[in-house]
Amino acid sequence: MADREFDLFVIGAGSGGVRAARFSAARGARVAVAEDRYLGGTCVNVGCIPKKLFVYASHFRAEMKDAASGFGWTVGPSSFDWPTLRDNKTREIERLNGVHEGLLRDAGVRHVEGRATIIDPHTVEVEGKRYSAENILVATGSWPTVPEIPGAELAITSNEVFYLDELPRKAIIVGGGYIAVEFACIFQGLGVDVTELYRGPLFLRGFDGDVRSHLAEQIRGQGVDLRFDTNVTASEKTESGIRATLTDGSELDADLILFATGRHPNTANLGLEELGVELGKAGAIAVDEYSRTNIPSIWAIGDVTNRINLTPVALHEGVCLSETLFNDNPRSPDHEYVPAAVFSQPPVGTVGLTEEEASEKFGAIEVYRSTFRALKQTLTNGKERTMMKLIVDRASDRVVGLHMVGPEAGEIIQGFAVAIKAGATKADFDATIGIHPTSAEEFVTMRTPVGA
Ligand SMILES: Cc1cc2nc3c(=O)[nH]c(=O)nc-3n(C[C@H](O)[C@H](O)[C@H](O)COP(=O)(O)OP(=O)(O)OC[C@H]3O[C@@H](n4cnc5c(N)ncnc54)[C@H](O)[C@@H]3O)c2cc1C
Repeated sequence: MADREFDLFVIGAGSGGVRAARFSAARGARVAVAEDRYLGGTCVNVGCIPKKLFVYASHFRAEMKDAASGFGWTVGPSSFDWPTLRDNKTREIERLNGVHEGLLRDAGVRHVEGRATIIDPHTVEVEGKRYSAENILVATGSWPTVPEIPGAELAITSNEVFYLDELPRKAIIVGGGYIAVEFACIFQGLGVDVTELYRGPLFLRGFDGDVRSHLAEQIRGQGVDLRFDTNVTASEKTESGIRATLTDGSELDADLILFATGRHPNTANLGLEELGVELGKAGAIAVDEYSRTNIPSIWAIGDVTNRINLTPVALHEGVCLSETLFNDNPRSPDHEYVPAAVFSQPPVGTVGLTEEEASEKFGAIEVYRSTFRALKQTLTNGKERTMMKLIVDRASDRVVGLHMVGPEAGEIIQGFAVAIKAGATKADFDATIGIHPTSAEEFVTMRTPVGA
């Protein structure tokens, strides 16, 4: 074996890359990680973390304006200052960048600053300097996809939305994925007049049908102008902002257009094609069940492989990779029953199969569904409705899908995800005593299937 400088050279210090680097170094491997933008990657800098901080900020208005008075509180004049939120958020992100730096340093991982390219199966180049490694891990994440329409450059993506100079008065959000939905709700909550456009008939493709339609109703109830089967075909500058032309020929004026129209794997100009690394749909790196590419010394994890594009999945893939490479324990990532949330208002939590998927997979299923007004809403005269749903494979009695639209859905579903992963049956759910009064207890008290 050639005497190479590193056992593992990681490209990208995001969720997956940092995890793989640290865990591999902890197993005694000599590891380097190259990062050309920000330590912690998308999640820490322009993804999950700053987004969730904005979600928290967006809740205060409704709490103060609508909810407080029903509980006897009089709230004085209130106002929102965008620069305060933005800058407090940025300070926290910078603190987290430092935490990541410390994590790498303490693990003994060499941090190389700059953009990396792969020269050959064992060589990476960063800023003109070459590094040799037994294994190369590509963990370069994904990047927002912007539609090719006239005036596209006037719009922003999720990369820029966290650093706006000022909060728009009127925003158009284009897209039907979770990022579009979350930002429609964030802006709406902060007092922005929001229109969300999605080219398909219903947003959140891939989520359970009832979740999608229930959330659409709730979001409209909050005041978001949600339009399906509608897209932007062009945008132009006006004296006061931006004018979007829509597919039906109408025009819409706004101060800001946010394209949240999907993301693509970050595989361009990395040297992959030159080396013959196999790429799949949308340029995703094709890997086997151990995250290995067709070049034996090159591996890939996280969004760049376009399997399930979530931070905890990238982390898990990073752990599996370090086990495979440096613990003599080949471990393939488990992508079954991965829970997820949409931090909309109200939020969505989900684990397992949608009704549509379960019906196709098992044929005979039972569906339990409950729609209700949460207790807190009773004193606030709130219109929001919670929806909960269980999907059961009739043959095995196993609960194969669990979905919720309602307050704290992400927190609630995380707990239930353990039961679903462990193979809990409907009988196990029925045997579990609820916590009263909560919304979550509904999951263990639903007794009559839909249509029975
Ligand atoms: C707005 C938004 C909200 C999100 N919210 C959530 C959420 O709530 N929950 C959740 O689980 N997931 C969420 N995600 C998804 C999550 O951020 C990603 O799935 C996760 O970050 C993927 O990790 P990764 O390691 O694959 O890539 P990343 O975290 O993107 O890291 C890749 C890193 O590689 C670096 N890089 C790229 N090319 C090179 C190169 N050539 N040389 C050196 N460095 C390079 C990049 O700068 C980046 O730092 C969100 C994403 C977005 C955009």
